[in-house]
Amino acid sequence: MIKGFLSRPSSALRLAVGAKLIFFMKYIIDSHSHIQFPVYDSDRSDVIARALESGVKMIAVGTQISTSEAGIRLAKENPENIWASVGYHPSHVLVGRSDILVGTAYVWHHDRNEQSEAEPEKFDIGKLSKLAADPMVVAIGECGLDYFRLSESEKSLAPGRAGGQAKVKSLQKEVFLQQAELAQKLNKALMIHCRPAKGTDDAYEDLLSMIPDEKFPIPKIVHFYVGGPEITRKLVDAGFYFTLGGVVTFARDYDGSIRLIPADRILLETDCPYVAPKSRRGKRNEPSFIRETAETVARIKDMGTDDFLKLVYVTSRKVFRI
Ligand SMILES: [Zn+2]
Repeated sequence: MIKGFLSRPSSALRLAVGAKLIFFMKYIIDSHSHIQFPVYDSDRSDVIARALESGVKMIAVGTQISTSEAGIRLAKENPENIWASVGYHPSHVLVGRSDILVGTAYVWHHDRNEQSEAEPEKFDIGKLSKLAADPMVVAIGECGLDYFRLSESEKSLAPGRAGGQAKVKSLQKEVFLQQAELAQKLNKALMIHCRPAKGTDDAYEDLLSMIPDEKFPIPKIVHFYVGGPEITRKLVDAGFYFTLGGVVTFARDYDGSIRLIPADRILLETDCPYVAPKSRRGKRNEPSFIRETAETVARIKDMGTDDFLKLVYVTSRKVFRI
């Protein structure tokens, strides 16, 4: 009788713990979303509800102060389910640089998904540092190097004063390094946007020399990773983490590189609203679509989806300390 009485709560407890563990293991963290962008203004709460129903929590990644602040606001409204990353995107580095631009012309990737009205912002490490200290901020970025659009950027530089593409590169490096140092100082992850010029590894090579593990032992995440096998080996050796997005569901070009990445260095992302997975290609992406990417990567890694997702969950929590 006494034994039975005692055993009931303990088995109930065991069941509860078991159920919680199963629940816990099924969560996916969308490590790189832009759920705070205005493209979701009309139905954001529905998009978030669909994500949570699908067992997806998310990081809202900023691209300058305004979008970083919006990410923090959203994280505070959804403290168990959304966290923020604050940063300044490399494609914005010419904004406000009247010292080196031709007149008022500048090039940056103003995108109506990202900002309904153009809100040019000059890089300001002071403002960014204040935001970065917020406890809802789990990473710094996206920040990094984008050499893909250099020839476009170069066109808006004052001739003879700027030194063309080299000048844009050095500006990007300066702005990136300040954010990497901020991440290191705060001991938060670094969310890196790194895009080389077509057919080269130039931006990845610069990343490797700029952010060595010895100087930056924080988790360093290369977002939307699409590098080839040779550079993948180098980035793996240098301790980087990789987020893989929807492109891996419809292009087979990256399978070889993905096989080279240890499974415990892989994170998943949507980069929503961009690059929806194969079954929804061309549509506005959202965090609830992430499972298709997870299943594809698990297949490439020759793992069961559940085992792979358990590992990704553990890695995500470790990297973002959540
Ligand atoms: Zn992004």
